[in-house]
Amino acid sequence: MPTIDRIHAREVLDSRGNPTVEVEAESMGRIVYAIVPSGASTGEHEALELRDRDNRFHGKGVLKAVRNVNEVIAPKLVGEELDSQERLDKIMLELDGTELKTNLGANAILGVSLVIAKLRAGVQGKWIYEVIGNDYTIPVPLLNVINGGKHAGGKLAIQEFMIVPHGFDTFRESLRAGSEIYHSLKSLLKKKYGVSAVNVGDEGGFAPPIDRSADALQMLVSAIEDAGYSPKEQVSLAIDAAASEFFHDAYYHVDDQKMTIEDMVDLYSQLTEEFPLISIEDPFDENDFEAFAKLMRLLGNKIAIVADDLTVTNVNRIKQAMDTNAANYLLLKVNQIGSLTEALNASDLCRQGKWGVVVSHRSGETEDPFIADLAVAIKAERIKTGAPARSERTAKYNQLLRIEEKLGDKAIYQGTLM
Ligand code: PEP
Ligand code: MG
Repeated sequence: MPTIDRIHAREVLDSRGNPTVEVEAESMGRIVYAIVPSGASTGEHEALELRDRDNRFHGKGVLKAVRNVNEVIAPKLVGEELDSQERLDKIMLELDGTELKTNLGANAILGVSLVIAKLRAGVQGKWIYEVIGNDYTIPVPLLNVINGGKHAGGKLAIQEFMIVPHGFDTFRESLRAGSEIYHSLKSLLKKKYGVSAVNVGDEGGFAPPIDRSADALQMLVSAIEDAGYSPKEQVSLAIDAAASEFFHDAYYHVDDQKMTIEDMVDLYSQLTEEFPLISIEDPFDENDFEAFAKLMRLLGNKIAIVADDLTVTNVNRIKQAMDTNAANYLLLKVNQIGSLTEALNASDLCRQGKWGVVVSHRSGETEDPFIADLAVAIKAERIKTGAPARSERTAKYNQLLRIEEKLGDKAIYQGTLM
């Protein structure tokens, strides 16, 4: 059995130009790298992203996390056999010993956890998805083409307006439709609002001067039609409200209004009636299981109610959401929980509870395509990794193109199962 010969972390930059942890590892002469992503609209229950809080990088340096890899984790793991992801992750979790990884940092632990999966694949001459799972599907992409909330400087309170090209036989055709619609949308926005409307936000989607959610969704329907596709049959819509970000003083501040939970339920059900909306993520505050459940009772048998900040890829919070019937889909982000093993446990729990899974990027991303392999390996129904533009986003979509081609006749596209 090959062993881990070397682990070395360094500070590199993410897509927003902020520092993040990269881990390099070596076994039998093979060298692999993993880079940790970072959120902006982070959930308050996420595992700790350890930052230096000193004068470098406006406090955002990650040299403490880097040191924790090089001086604490590496001495424990170098020389260990690459037999099991779970065993190696457990060594790190015990070394940290806290619920939210506040000792070593989730960014330190996750960098090593991901690099272990890559090393296990590398020494066996396998693809990453092949060492994580046993059978595979290709997920439907949720492409975030209008950016609002914390990811852009516009007026839209809702954070993400996504197109979901599902009515195709393959991922490749879906991605083509996504790209064509993205460019149709660009032309429409330019025509209607001028050239500055097509500046992009953190996830590569446009940030136009639109202030009402319904107007943003209408632009997406027009773009789908302009590109020659049929809304609903071929391409549906999804939103991530990221509602904790606009919940202040007991009200939701959205569409230039102050809304109660009941008002928000009405807004979501109106939007679902008016548009081919098939997925609503984080519709309410991250601690309000009750409000989520209210929306579930109304729309849960028709569309995906996706829990992100509510559940933070944490099995305890997912159990609570299942017990309260607060959602029917998990947004799975590896850095919310901080190790691959725990992310896989979250996915397993979803399967037991008959929830769907959307594997997700962060708004601060990197060139590392790891989550594409992960989505295939856990047979995630969907993947959300930004616009079909900007290399930190397309890195994941392009890896899915490679995997679909590699699987050939055996590739099962989740769009054909919807
Ligand atoms: C999200 O909220 O789903 C998201 C991807 O944003 P962030 O990474 O900023 O949390
Ligand atoms: Mg979200």
